[in-house]
Amino acid sequence: MNMSRSRVPAALAVSALGAALALTGCSSSDTPDDGRLQVLASFYPLQFITQEIGGDLVDVSSLTPSGAEPHDLELSPAAARGVGEADLVVYLSDFQPAVDDAIAQREPAHVVDAADSADLEAHELQGEEGDEHEGEEHSADDGHDHGALDPHFWLDPERLAAVSADVVAELSAIDPDNADTYAQRGEELAASLTELDTTFTEGLAQCDSQLLVTSHEAFGYLAERYGLEQVGISGIDPEAEPSPARLKEVSSIIKDRGVTTIYFETLVSPKVTETLASDLGITSAVLDPIESLSDPDGDYRSVMLTNLEALQAGLGCA
Ligand SMILES: [Zn+2]
Repeated sequence: MNMSRSRVPAALAVSALGAALALTGCSSSDTPDDGRLQVLASFYPLQFITQEIGGDLVDVSSLTPSGAEPHDLELSPAAARGVGEADLVVYLSDFQPAVDDAIAQREPAHVVDAADSADLEAHELQGEEGDEHEGEEHSADDGHDHGALDPHFWLDPERLAAVSADVVAELSAIDPDNADTYAQRGEELAASLTELDTTFTEGLAQCDSQLLVTSHEAFGYLAERYGLEQVGISGIDPEAEPSPARLKEVSSIIKDRGVTTIYFETLVSPKVTETLASDLGITSAVLDPIESLSDPDGDYRSVMLTNLEALQAGLGCA
């Protein structure tokens, strides 16, 4: 990425220690306080991988507050300034417009865009006409456009591992003295993501149903990887209200296919899903899209394993 140091004085000028540090001629990889690289991740799964790779060499914070929903993120002026001052920003372009804007305006010294290696795909709403999807599902969408691509790549561990490799490369470029450490931690992370992937493959190999009915359509990559078929009640945007026509359509899919459990998620009201489940006399259960960390004692891996248990129970897996 951009290795120029020309922006460093400007970035430091706003910090209290700026004047003193500027005199020492520090590089962009030096930090005002404790020597750790200051990294911003735009939401939790990116924070998770960066923390795993950087360990105690980096100080990673998330632009999306924990427990908040990242789709609609707005940045305070201070947070936007922070984007310009970070040693590295790890984000996903075309997912959080406020972050895209801050990066364009503040030009952080180094960025990793997860879209470069996540191999994003378009996932159409299953069982719905294309026109209806565009017209109805997104008419309630007040301005955040995910483009045609499904952003939720992190629910496929192998895609998250691919992005992790880019984080390793960028941290190593910024801080070459510690490149071996980043490489080793990156390998450990990749191994643990592969292990998680294997656990999912084995855990979902023999199920009564392959039909995954979810509230917010976040599980397209997960479904694709493990041979499931996702039917979303709302679209890819968690805030979109399903139309009555969509609810009717999903209801008939549920009945036709003998679905016994439908899933709602942690950060969005379960009301629509619970009502639908009770109308149809079936169960509703939680599936966490890991857009934020809902359990402060957990991490990406533990939440994924909890999701696997919920899937095995709801889909009748042996
Ligand atoms: Zn989402």
